[in-house]
Amino acid sequence: MSQIQTGLLVLLLTFIGVVGYNVYINETTPIERSYSEFIELVEQNKIKSIHLKGGEVTAEDVLSHSFSTYIPDVTLVMPLFKEKNIEITAESATENWGGFMRSMLPVLLILGGYLIFSRNQQGPKADFGKGKGKSFHPKKKIDISFDDVAGISEARLELSEVVDSLTNPEKFSVLGGYIPKGILLQGPPGTGKTLLAKAIAGEASVPFYSIGGSDFVEMFVGVGASRVRELFTEAKKNAPCIIFIDEIDAIGGKRSGGNASGSNDEREQTLNALLVEMDGFDSDETVIIIAATNRPDILDPALLRPGRFDRQVTIALPDVKGRRKILEVHARKIVLSHCTDLSVIARAIPGFSGAEIANLVNEAALMAARKNKTAVDSSDFEDAKDKISLGLERKNLVIKEKDRRITAYHEAGHAITAKLLPETDPVHKITIIPRGQALGLTQQVPLDDRYTYSRDYLINRIKILMGGRVAEEIVFDHQTTGASNDILSATDIASRFVCEFGMSEAIGPIAYSQEQEGFLGSTSASKAYSEKTAEHIDQEIKNLIERCYSETFDLLTVNNKFLHKLAEALLVNETVDGEEFEIVHQCYLNDKKTEENIRNKQKEG
Ligand code: ADP
Ligand code: MG
Ligand code: ZN
Repeated sequence: MSQIQTGLLVLLLTFIGVVGYNVYINETTPIERSYSEFIELVEQNKIKSIHLKGGEVTAEDVLSHSFSTYIPDVTLVMPLFKEKNIEITAESATENWGGFMRSMLPVLLILGGYLIFSRNQQGPKADFGKGKGKSFHPKKKIDISFDDVAGISEARLELSEVVDSLTNPEKFSVLGGYIPKGILLQGPPGTGKTLLAKAIAGEASVPFYSIGGSDFVEMFVGVGASRVRELFTEAKKNAPCIIFIDEIDAIGGKRSGGNASGSNDEREQTLNALLVEMDGFDSDETVIIIAATNRPDILDPALLRPGRFDRQVTIALPDVKGRRKILEVHARKIVLSHCTDLSVIARAIPGFSGAEIANLVNEAALMAARKNKTAVDSSDFEDAKDKISLGLERKNLVIKEKDRRITAYHEAGHAITAKLLPETDPVHKITIIPRGQALGLTQQVPLDDRYTYSRDYLINRIKILMGGRVAEEIVFDHQTTGASNDILSATDIASRFVCEFGMSEAIGPIAYSQEQEGFLGSTSASKAYSEKTAEHIDQEIKNLIERCYSETFDLLTVNNKFLHKLAEALLVNETVDGEEFEIVHQCYLNDKKTEENIRNKQKEG
């Protein structure tokens, strides 16, 4: 660190010392009272105890408030104290070391701070972290088992092998293989990485050292590194055991080139220490290191090299089955009504992580409690889900009748387009109750998790998004801003349709992605292409959207009676669920048949 930084640090310590001292003095000096006030309180039996120091008195009243006062002649009031049964303690007035020390406190603080700091200037001292090093105690009894982690069967298989290797090492070494030392759990936040590590410890019943990546990173250079060494020494003494480093990206990020700043310095030293320690293991020391991160893309490649974290276990977001199992695990903790079908709920929450599911179950229980129910049922889950993903219902928002009508037709437009087109997800719910930012909502829920999308699915998705705006145009012949989000999503799909999925005939199967989101948010470099191609692409996106728009327009014009029927149902009931929507659809089909019959009869007649 440079001289300037040193100077700044000393200044800072001085400041902290002075401020801290003043706060301390203010807090510990009791309020002063007058002598007569004090005597009055004594006579009213309001004083519990006093402490005498010469003529100075610190008294404590019955409410344990203390204050100070001065007594001119103590011998005069002694009989009164005795009469009132007040507890008296005393000390000699001359000894005033405490006061002296207190006044020296800021100076000592600065001196101490400077000493510590200058020690660091001379390079890392191995024993500085010692004080904190005592915290490397293995966790006692962990009562989390693999059963508490649901829906990640592949990862579980891989990791139960680790548990096996700790409890039964011969099984693996007999064939000459070696047990992996480092295991990296990677995956999106909330998928249960930390939970899984705890479960391994619970299953293996060996000492478990758990530490967060950021625990290593301190202001003083070298502390993190020495802490790593301490941790490993301690762990080796207790082998076989597990070291768990959570959020390892805090220290394991890619090391920079030459110009490292202070804090990076510390991080790199810590990382280097970790690498050295991992290499220094003998194969007969069974210390297994498990690390977790949701940013594997920023980790230093040296960490991932064979012999270090060479086994990487990816924990993905749970699929339908996984979500159901996680729901089951968490539903054990609440009172669930008999008629709640967890599979239906699992289907309705695609993309939810384990942590979000845990939150959902809790919210549902709170919803039910708010309504004074005796058990949690599906409607509570439904409410909780909407609250989490869209925000609270805004029941008090006053909406003009005209806007309500527009919203009803807008949502009906989405829903009907989805219903009438093939290869679309079933409509789960349509509502015109405003929530968060949205005035209404049409929710579709896929029957299964989708991993690939067909061309027709994408085109129909754009049409469904256009359905809202189209319905407004057909019925009211004007446009509102309510469709801006739809248009944004539709444009996004259309441009990926052309540039990423290579589904446009005119452009062909070539990837023209400008910026692609990689695993967990990494971006790959852009591919250059000519102005002409860019124009071509823009034109193609525009064509696609316009075609979808006009086809949706035709579809909804032909079926405009369906549109009116559904919008009316929405205006009356505010929310129409999947089954009710089906009834409206059947009604519409029946009406259509009757009309046709009448028309046919008229023709005949
Ligand atoms: P991560 O470390 O991956 O960010 P956590 O392990 O901290 O996620 O998960 C947070 C919480 O979410 C857990 O305490 C647990 O309640 C819940 N959870 C996450 N994944 C699962 C799962 N697969 N099974 C059961 N509960 C889970
Ligand atoms: Mg975690
Ligand atoms: Zn819309």
